[in-house]
Amino acid sequence: MTVSTRVDLALLGIRGTPPVNRTGGAGPSDDGHLLIDGLNAAIPRNPNSPFIFDGDRVLFDGVDAGVEVATIGRPRFYDLTTDDGVPYEQIAKLHGADVLATTVVQTCIRYAEDQRCRFCSIEESLRSGATVAVKKPEQLADVARAAVELDGITQMVMTTGTSNGKDRGAKHLARCVRAVKAAVPDLPIQVQCEPPADLVTITDLRDAGADAIGIHVESLDDDVRRRWMPGKATVSLDDYRAAWAEAVRVFGRNQVSTYLLVGLGDNPDEMIAGAKELADTGVYPFIVPFRPHAGTLAVDVDHAAGPDPAIVEKISREVAVHLQWIGMTGSEQRAGCAACGACGVLQNVGG
Ligand code: SF4
Repeated sequence: MTVSTRVDLALLGIRGTPPVNRTGGAGPSDDGHLLIDGLNAAIPRNPNSPFIFDGDRVLFDGVDAGVEVATIGRPRFYDLTTDDGVPYEQIAKLHGADVLATTVVQTCIRYAEDQRCRFCSIEESLRSGATVAVKKPEQLADVARAAVELDGITQMVMTTGTSNGKDRGAKHLARCVRAVKAAVPDLPIQVQCEPPADLVTITDLRDAGADAIGIHVESLDDDVRRRWMPGKATVSLDDYRAAWAEAVRVFGRNQVSTYLLVGLGDNPDEMIAGAKELADTGVYPFIVPFRPHAGTLAVDVDHAAGPDPAIVEKISREVAVHLQWIGMTGSEQRAGCAACGACGVLQNVGG
């Protein structure tokens, strides 16, 4: 499969519903999860896509698109429920073939319409009843144990909506990490949160047992940040830089990552330069195409379209070359989105 077909799939998506899929949620969502060329792939579900997933193959214009695709079976832990009747599937989801992912607090102080990130639908899955607002540490421990034992998951991602406190939600994350590590000590965990106001919180997360951390900025351009993420843009880029530096000190080089979303309006060359700079400081810049999906302001209000495939490919390729040059790859992260890689194409081009 060519890289451009992989980019087209990432942007145009597929018609059809793979057994492992998700609807709304934090970050990119509303996708089906497959293995493409042996790598995790989170592909948007799009009823208008020219690509059809027929359960075994990806077809284009009725003809096999030449994509080496493997279906991921519905995980067995989805059939379990907690003692108080909460389905495990509402507590954490399978992403890709082997990642357990959860949003420990499914609400966000920035979710007012004039504050929220315009690409995010974190509270929509809560409204639809697909998940619960706050995941208890002991629930996550039970689900993680089951997902390891029944489905062989190899890593876990814990993200959170931003809370009102100075820790921005990190304290609850730390409690959840501790509980999961007590249940399955060998399971690598990545935590994701905004830069905490008090940087010692980053050490608290590491001490709790987190193996990697994502501090996601999405754009390095303040105009883009104000337009797309008015709430989050009140946290300055300097605060992000300080948090990344502290995280690299605490977690180590290439155990810290950030999302850079292609398609919000960043100048591509500036994004490439910014990504290289981040990588040089030890932060893996996970290049991810912006994915318009229903339930977000970007689609429901702005009618925003996804990025130009050629730009996604150019940025991914140039950043991947630099990552190879400095010896940094996503697969070397102990856990997390960069290790999984499904939401971008960076790993497909060697990053
Ligand atoms: S990259 Fe992150 S959000 Fe995307 S499928 Fe993998 S773990 Fe989930």
